[in-house]
Amino acid sequence: MRYASLGSGSRGNATVVTDNERAVLIDCGFSRKSLLTRLQQAGLDAACLDGVFVTHEHGDHAKGVQSLCETLNVPFYSSFGTARKMEWAEHPLWRCIRSDEVVTVGSLALLPVVVPHDAEEPLQFVIENTAGRRLGVLSDLGTLTPHILSSYSGCHGLQVEANHDPQMLQNGPYPPSLRARVAGNFGHLSNQQCADLVARLHWDGLSYVTAGHISEKNNARALVSQSLSAVLGCGPQDVMLLEQDGVSPWLQL
Ligand SMILES: [Zn+2]
Ligand SMILES: [Zn+2]
Repeated sequence: MRYASLGSGSRGNATVVTDNERAVLIDCGFSRKSLLTRLQQAGLDAACLDGVFVTHEHGDHAKGVQSLCETLNVPFYSSFGTARKMEWAEHPLWRCIRSDEVVTVGSLALLPVVVPHDAEEPLQFVIENTAGRRLGVLSDLGTLTPHILSSYSGCHGLQVEANHDPQMLQNGPYPPSLRARVAGNFGHLSNQQCADLVARLHWDGLSYVTAGHISEKNNARALVSQSLSAVLGCGPQDVMLLEQDGVSPWLQL
């Protein structure tokens, strides 16, 4: 299994996962055009895509989904709550997924995991191939739950959210209501919460941790590196951070 981020942050998110020459996307928060350019930059032919799994209806995750899938004629998968909000429920390419019910696409099995976030019915994903290699993709959650920790245990790769530094958020440009939303239990993970998450999911088989959805206004990349290097036991320069405008290197599990 290989995976790469095609971009991560409040202006758009998409992650591509491939196995056995086929691929799925987690989210498409970019325009179709931008997504296709990013796929090309990653060296992947769009004809390899078998579907898009959508975590929730926020624009930075769902914006380009319908248009991309109509163009490629591939299905898109989301919870009913997300579909209702996006007006997808009658769409012929939409497939309903439910928390804790595994969906198989080619050689990949995707487990949807419910998370606390201010959306209708948000899900995040653990992806496993037939060789038992596991990737956890986890962003847009305000707090950790026992269910999340058990669902994401035993992952060989983790792509997690390190959204904000609480101090920067408090002193930043957001109005108080938005600040409270981001910091709340249905908002986003802080650097410290992200580090806690990684510490709890750490095990001998964990090969890669990448941090994304890093706020451009309420965080600094150096702070993310600092928080994570402490739990990963590496130097800050070795912590892998995702970029909003750039495609990440491929990681192989
Ligand atoms: Zn988001
Ligand atoms: Zn969101």
